[in-house]
Amino acid sequence: MSLSEIHIHDSYHTDHAIQIAPRVWWVGHVQENDPFQCHVYLIEQGDQSVLIDPGSTLTFTNTLEKIEEITPFSSIKYFICQHQDPDITGAMPLIEKMLTRDDAVIVTHWRTKMIIKHYGMQMPYWLLDDHDWRLPLEDRVLEFCFTPYAHFPGAFTTFDTASQIMFSSDIFGGLTEEFSLFAKGESYLECMKPFHQHYMPSNDILQYVLHEIEKYPMKMIAPQHGSIIPQHLIRFMINGLKSLDCGLYLLLRGTTDFRKLSAFNDTLKSITKTMTIYRDFKQIALQLLTIIRCEVATDSLEFYVQDINQGMIYLAASNQYRGKLVTPPAYVQAVFDSPPPATADNPGSQFQIMDHTDRTGVIKKAVMIALYLPEKGHVQAVILLHLADYHFDSEKLGRMVEQMRLPLQVAIEREMIYRDMDRERDKIYQRAIRDPLTGLFTRIYMTDFVHKMIEQQDRQQELMLAGVMIDIDHFKLINDTWGHNQGDIVLREVSRCVLDHCRAADIPVRLGGEEFIIFSQNSDIANSLRFAERLRALIAGLTWAEPMHGKQISASFGVAHRRKGEGLSDFIERIDSALYRAKESGRNRVCYQE
Ligand code: GH3
Ligand code: MG
Ligand code: MG
Repeated sequence: MSLSEIHIHDSYHTDHAIQIAPRVWWVGHVQENDPFQCHVYLIEQGDQSVLIDPGSTLTFTNTLEKIEEITPFSSIKYFICQHQDPDITGAMPLIEKMLTRDDAVIVTHWRTKMIIKHYGMQMPYWLLDDHDWRLPLEDRVLEFCFTPYAHFPGAFTTFDTASQIMFSSDIFGGLTEEFSLFAKGESYLECMKPFHQHYMPSNDILQYVLHEIEKYPMKMIAPQHGSIIPQHLIRFMINGLKSLDCGLYLLLRGTTDFRKLSAFNDTLKSITKTMTIYRDFKQIALQLLTIIRCEVATDSLEFYVQDINQGMIYLAASNQYRGKLVTPPAYVQAVFDSPPPATADNPGSQFQIMDHTDRTGVIKKAVMIALYLPEKGHVQAVILLHLADYHFDSEKLGRMVEQMRLPLQVAIEREMIYRDMDRERDKIYQRAIRDPLTGLFTRIYMTDFVHKMIEQQDRQQELMLAGVMIDIDHFKLINDTWGHNQGDIVLREVSRCVLDHCRAADIPVRLGGEEFIIFSQNSDIANSLRFAERLRALIAGLTWAEPMHGKQISASFGVAHRRKGEGLSDFIERIDSALYRAKESGRNRVCYQE
C-alpha cells in the first residue's frame, strides 16, 4: 500500500491502530470533547520497535491495546519523549513497571532528562546529543531535529528516513473541534493558528524552528495534537505558520480567549500599519479613531502639538485636522509645563485618565497621553482620547496607548516637518512674486496669473479685462537731483498709493523701473478711465517731506481693454502705446487705446 492510498481512504477506525505508512502506526486514543487530542506513534521494528511520545496516564491503557494489535509491548526498545510535558511523559512510570527487558531506554535530550528524572524512574536514558542526533534501526534511521524553546528548552522533532514522516510534537499541532486524524485541507491552518499564536512564545523562535524543519524531505508531518498533514499541504502550512504572531497570551492578562486575543492582536497591528500607510495627518487621525473604536467606545481624538516656530497647534475634527494656533486649556498646558516623571521603561505613567464633561454636561472619561521626548527634555504633544462610556477596559486601553505612542510620535514629527516645508515654500514663492522695494507683484506672478485671467475671459464672453499702465514722469530727474535713495522713496510712496487704490481682485505689478501695470476684471471703459483718473490725481496730490518739500510728482497713464484672443504681450503693447500718447501730449494724464 502506498502512502497516499493509506491516508486518502477515510475509513479508518480509531478503536484500532491505524497504519499511516509502512511499519508506522498511529496508536493514540480519541478523547471525547477534547480539542487537544494527543497522538502516539509506533514504528514497528521487530524487537527494536519505537514508541514516539508515549502519552499520559489518561490514554495509555488504550494505546497499549493498539500496540498489542501490532507487536508485543515487550518488543519496544525505544521510548522517544520529544519534550517533557505530562501528556507525553505521564505514562512513563507505568511503562517502567511493565518493562520485561532491561535494555529499554528513554530517548530524549539532556535538558528533557533533567525534568523526566523527577518521576524517580530507574530506566536508562539514550541521549540524542551523545549519539550524533541519529538512531539507526533495522530498515531506517531516525534523525532528530533540535527545536529548542518552541515549547521547552530541550524540545526536538524526529524524522524517519524510511517513511519520510516528521514527528513534530507540538509544532504543527492544532485545536480541532472534531477529531480528524488527517488534515482535510488548507482550513487546518486555522486550527493551528490559536495553538501557535498562544502557545509558542515568539515568532523568532517559531521561524528558526520552521527553518530547521523544512530542510528535511518530508512526505508527511505527524504532530502530537490536531491532525496529520499530508505532503501536498506541507508547504502551505509552513508558510502560514511563518507569518504568525506568537506569544499573544502576553497581550492581556485578563483574557484567555484565543479568538479575542487574536482579534486584539490584529487591532494593535493595524494601529502601526495606519502610520505607515497614510501620509496625511487627517487620515491617520480618522483611521486611528476607527481602529480604536473596534475595542473601546470612543467619541473623539484631538492633539495639541508644540511647534517651536509657531506656538501651540491644535488638530481636531473641528478643524479637519488641518490645525490652528490656540492657547490650550490649563490641564493640557500643565502637562507641557511639567513633563511627567516617566522614563523609557515606564511609559505607562505617560498617560492619565481624567473625568471630562462633554458639551451636554455628561461626565465622561478622557485619556490624556503625553508624548515626551526624553532626549529633548520636553513634551512634544498631548493627545486627548475622549471615551464614549464611563466604564472601559483599562488593560486594553493601556496596550493600545502603548502601541500608538511611537508611531504617533513619528506621525506628529513628520507633520511638523511638512508644515515647516510648506511655510518655507510659501516664503520662497512670496519672495518670487513680490517686488521687495514696492510690495507689488513681479512680472513672474504677472505672467502666471494674467494668463489665467486671459483663459477665463476667453471662456466667458461677457468678462472684460482692463489694463492700466503707469509711468512716473521725469523720474530720472528725481534720481539725478536728490539721489537714488530719494528715488526709492518716491517709488515706494507711489506704489503705496497704487496698492491703496486697488481692489482685492486687481493685480498691481511693478513692470520694472518706475513703470507699473494694474490688471482688473469686470471694469468697462468708463470705469477704468475713472479709476485711472482718480489714481493720477492721488499721485499728483501727494505731499513730500524734505528735500522734496513743495515739489509735485506726477505720472502718465495708458489704459486699454483686452480684445478677444489677444496675447498678453500684444495687449501690453497696446496699453503702452496709450501711455506713449499720454507722455507725448504733455504727461500727468490718462489716455485710452481702442
Ligand atoms: P519720462 O517722463 O519720459 O518717463 O522720463 P523718465 O525720466 O521717468 O524716464 P526714464 O525711463 O528715462 O528714466 C527712468 C529712470 O528710473 C532710469 C533709472 O535709473 C531709474 N530707475 C529704475 N529702477 C529704479 C529703482 O529701483 N530705484 C531708483 N531710484 N531708480 C530707478
Ligand atoms: Mg520709464
Ligand atoms: Mg518715467
